[in-house]
Amino acid sequence: MKTTPGGLRGSFPVPTTDPVSGATISLLVESADGSSQILLDAGTGVLNLLPRLRPGALLALTHFHLDHLLGLPLLVPSGLSGILTARPDAATILSRIYSPPVWPVPAFNAPFALAAPGKPHVHGALTVAFHPVAHPDGCHAIRIDEPATGESLVLATDIEWSLMPPAARAAFAGFAHGATDLWFDCHFFPSELPSHRGWGHSSWEEAVDAARLASAKSVHPLHYSPRATEAETGDLRARFAAPTRPPVTPSRP
Ligand SMILES: [Zn+2]
Ligand SMILES: [Zn+2]
Repeated sequence: MKTTPGGLRGSFPVPTTDPVSGATISLLVESADGSSQILLDAGTGVLNLLPRLRPGALLALTHFHLDHLLGLPLLVPSGLSGILTARPDAATILSRIYSPPVWPVPAFNAPFALAAPGKPHVHGALTVAFHPVAHPDGCHAIRIDEPATGESLVLATDIEWSLMPPAARAAFAGFAHGATDLWFDCHFFPSELPSHRGWGHSSWEEAVDAARLASAKSVHPLHYSPRATEAETGDLRARFAAPTRPPVTPSRP
């Protein structure tokens, strides 16, 4: 399994020297043999992934906040095989956003598929499963498994770990158990969390907690705050270079 991040920023795209760091959430997951592609969310990071995308890719959406949808119109010519979501009203929501006068043309031309709770969706060499997490308006973590290699990826963006009671954390840990790669919401620095309760995001400390609880093999930060500088996002990535070591002191007070 190969993962290519196209956008790692949360909420709003920002100008940065690294285009992936400044674009909003989108990750491309490909099977080891290259035969199957799954695009996770469609933020502005889609632009960075277009050269790798092939017809037949599946788009899986965690939720419907704009920062995860802004790149959707870029996908119309690419020939998606489908749009997989956990919301039965997905087509209605996207039609509300992508119709005149807000947007001149529909931003999707692929069939919608509804993710069944607890039942993985098969896309070629990969399987996709959804798990609900705490976030305003709802959001799902998404797990991709590749049975042929035993590798797996869990995307847990837009998750507020501090609002999840122990049973919900345990359920998430079961869903993400043993993930080869866990991509986890690191929007806030730990010191910012108390004044942003209910905003729907987590910190790097909580990402480490979640990764340990789920026995994930590695953890990666994403959904950087739009206010985070490039030095801060670089520092954030450095914290996870050795994911099981004790976290270092945050750079921001
Ligand atoms: Zn978001
Ligand atoms: Zn959101």
